[in-house]
Amino acid sequence: MKRESFSTPELIILLEMAGFASLQVWQTPGIKGKLDWYYAVSNNRMPAKYLLCRRVAVENIGPNITEEELWKIHEEAADEFAKLRREILDGDISFKELEAQKPNFLDVKVALVKRMLRRCNFCRWNCRVDRAAGRKHGTCQLESESRVSSYFHHMGEELPIRGTRGSGTIFFTSCNMRCVFCQNADISHDKGSGVVFTPQALAWAMWQLRMEGCHNINLVGGEPTIHLHTIVEAISMLKFFREVVPEALDVKADAYYPYPLDPRNAYYEGEFNTPILWNSNMYMSGETMKILKELVDIWLPDFKFGNNRCAVHLSRTPWYFETVAENHKTIYDWGEDIVIRHLVMPGHVECCTKPVLEWIAENMPDTPVNIMDQYHPDCYCNPADPRYDKRYSDMARHPTREEIIESYRIAKKLGINFEEITFEKSLRGIRI
Ligand code: SF4
Repeated sequence: MKRESFSTPELIILLEMAGFASLQVWQTPGIKGKLDWYYAVSNNRMPAKYLLCRRVAVENIGPNITEEELWKIHEEAADEFAKLRREILDGDISFKELEAQKPNFLDVKVALVKRMLRRCNFCRWNCRVDRAAGRKHGTCQLESESRVSSYFHHMGEELPIRGTRGSGTIFFTSCNMRCVFCQNADISHDKGSGVVFTPQALAWAMWQLRMEGCHNINLVGGEPTIHLHTIVEAISMLKFFREVVPEALDVKADAYYPYPLDPRNAYYEGEFNTPILWNSNMYMSGETMKILKELVDIWLPDFKFGNNRCAVHLSRTPWYFETVAENHKTIYDWGEDIVIRHLVMPGHVECCTKPVLEWIAENMPDTPVNIMDQYHPDCYCNPADPRYDKRYSDMARHPTREEIIESYRIAKKLGINFEEITFEKSLRGIRI
């Protein structure tokens, strides 16, 4: 038998890919069977959802078509998509047998987000401003441009997300919430930060990260929802690029790391393949959820506040709980892969941590939840920051050890699936 020989960089890639697939975390009770779709796409054993969207044909969508008609076509295509995905999962049909269609489901999604941008309802604020014209601004203050602050291999996410080669994280600027403790305020609160990314530059950056071996494309900010139009169009452009899109490189934060580009990192039946990860505050509209349903391979949402009083006081965000809870529940009911994040805030265990965990236990049992202990006073809550505001002095400290342990105890009592995803680093001597 002829033995294949590999160069050293090739061997490193093969070993690291195998390393991700065989991480012990996939066999732990809290994770096993919970993220199967994401795992398969990440390891190029299944096509990402966007590749399936390309296989769903739609009728011609001319410029005169109404938004209502587009939503009708979207609904029919979504049914077709669900059928196709089921058949692929059950092995009744092979991806190889399916030809890419034109126009297809992705074209409908791109057309819809462009219409939505003209009376923006991407998120729950439902501002209905024409962001393409840019004469009036909504809560996020954005027009049609999207800016990216940085993109790189993120090695700080949860183990199934960061794996061995990192999560391909793209930080968009601006946000639709105004968290006074924002840990990314430099990019969330400053709409002029970063550089303008066209859909093509964004697609190219996604391609680069995945070709370099990232296990997913992690869309975050700030908040990705407010950049929905750019993101959806970029996903529709994903392919094996030949040409460089140099403007993207301006904000590659790990440009000097020697990550070789290798198509085997992203290859599925001849096509460019990558899981799409939505890392969001989940303050989005039902319409945005519908657009994302057939694009997102794994959801990584934040569930911060357990009541609207705290959400308004600390984030100036009304209708928080009902909006975010409903969007979480929708994902659960869809049966999609999801890991929830909850940040323990100082003095907010009873009013926020407890009700959030109770809601999860009742509505999304067994969903992996990362109960995060890394809150630190930042932005308006940081006495050392010129923006410090005394109204938030109760937030100007780390959570105590007792508050963290109490949060874990509540989770344990409620039967929350949190230990493997929360404690993958170390228990730090904590006994729950
Ligand atoms: S993204 Fe949200 S906040 Fe921004 S204009 Fe649209 S609806 Fe308003």
